[in-house]
Amino acid sequence: MTTLLPADPKLGYLAHKAEIDDAVQRVLESGRYILGEECSAFEHEFAAFVGVQHCIGVGNGTDALELALRALGIGHGDTVITTSNTAVATVAAIELAGATPLLVDVDDETLTISPPALEKALATTRAAAVIPVHLYGHPADMPQIMAIAERHQLRVIEDCAQAHGAAIDGRQVGTFGDAAAFSFYPTKNLAALGDGGAVVTHDEHLATRLRELRTYGWRERYISETAGMNTRLDEIQAAILRVRLRHLPHDNDRRREIAARYSHSLGRAPAAGDVHHVYHQYVIRISRRDELRERLKRQQIETAILYPQPIHLQPAYRGRIATAGELPVTERAARELLCLPMHPWLTDSDADRVTAAILQHG
Ligand SMILES: *Cc1c(COP(=O)(O)O)cnc(C)c1O
Repeated sequence: MTTLLPADPKLGYLAHKAEIDDAVQRVLESGRYILGEECSAFEHEFAAFVGVQHCIGVGNGTDALELALRALGIGHGDTVITTSNTAVATVAAIELAGATPLLVDVDDETLTISPPALEKALATTRAAAVIPVHLYGHPADMPQIMAIAERHQLRVIEDCAQAHGAAIDGRQVGTFGDAAAFSFYPTKNLAALGDGGAVVTHDEHLATRLRELRTYGWRERYISETAGMNTRLDEIQAAILRVRLRHLPHDNDRRREIAARYSHSLGRAPAAGDVHHVYHQYVIRISRRDELRERLKRQQIETAILYPQPIHLQPAYRGRIATAGELPVTERAARELLCLPMHPWLTDSDADRVTAAILQHG
C-alpha cells in the first residue's frame, strides 16, 4: 500500500516531467539566469490569468508581502491587521516591513478574517492596512472587507499564497485589493521546484515602485532612488511556472473533484454558491483530532495540521504581539482541525481510502 501524503510535489513534477525538463534545459542553455525573458513572460501570463494589469516576480511569498507593504509606503509606526491562523510568513512580513501587526479573529465557517471582528478592532485602533488571507484556497469575504477598508481608508493586500485561481462570483482573488501576494512554494496550487513568489496589482504607479524596490530601489542600473530589497524570481523557476500555469485550471478542477468526493463520503456540505474554492487544503474539524490522526497514520495516510498553534501563542510572538481581545474561534480551530491528503494526483480510490479510514472508526 502506498503512503498518502498531505501534499506530494514529486508527483507534480513527474506528471509534467518532459515539459518541465525541456523548460529547464532551455534556460540552462540561454545564458540568462536572473530577470530575463522567462520571468517577464511568466509575469505577463500570470497577470492575464489572475485578471490584473501587472505582475512582479519575486523570490518567495514572504518577500512578496513585505515588498507590497513597502511599496505602499507602510512601515514604522503603522498598524497592519491580519489573522493569527496563517503561515508565520504573513506576520513576519509585516514586521520585516517595520510595521506592527494586530491580529483579529476569524469566521467560524471559513477560518478567514471575520468582517465583524475587523470592524470592531477598527473602532478602537487606527490601522494603515489589512491583509486578508485566502486560507486553504477559500476566498476571504472580499466584498465586505473592501467596504470596511473604504470606510476606514485602509490599504488592502491580499495574501493569495494558498489560493491561485480562487474566485468570488467569477472574480479572482488578487484583483480586489491594492496589491496581492502569491507564493509558488513547491506545495502550493501553482508550484515552483524551489522558491518563488509574485506581487500583482492594477496600479501602474505601484507596479513601477514594486519593480524598483525589488532590485535595491534602482530606477537606473546601479543607482538606487530609494532603499530597496533584493528579491527576484529566477529564470529556471519562471520557466517551470509557465509550464505549471498551463495546467493550473485542470489541477484546481481535480482538487475540487477530490474535495467533492470527500464531502460526499463524509456527508458534509460543499462550499457555498458564489465562491470558487480551490482546495489548497481540505480541512475537517473534530474534537478528538490527535487520535484520528494516529489511526490514519497507522493506515499509511499522512495528514497535516495547518496550523497547530496560532501565531499569537508561538514562542517568538507570545506576550509581544497585539491581538484584538481574545481570539476564541482561532484557538478552538487550532485544536480541532485536520488537513486530509489533498493534491491533484490523488486517485479516486486514494480519496475513498481516506474517507473509509475515517468512517471505519466513526
Ligand atoms: C506559503 C505561505 C506564505 C509564504 O510563502 P513563502 O513562499 O513560503 O515565503 C505566506 N502566506 C501564506 C498564507 C502561505 O501559505
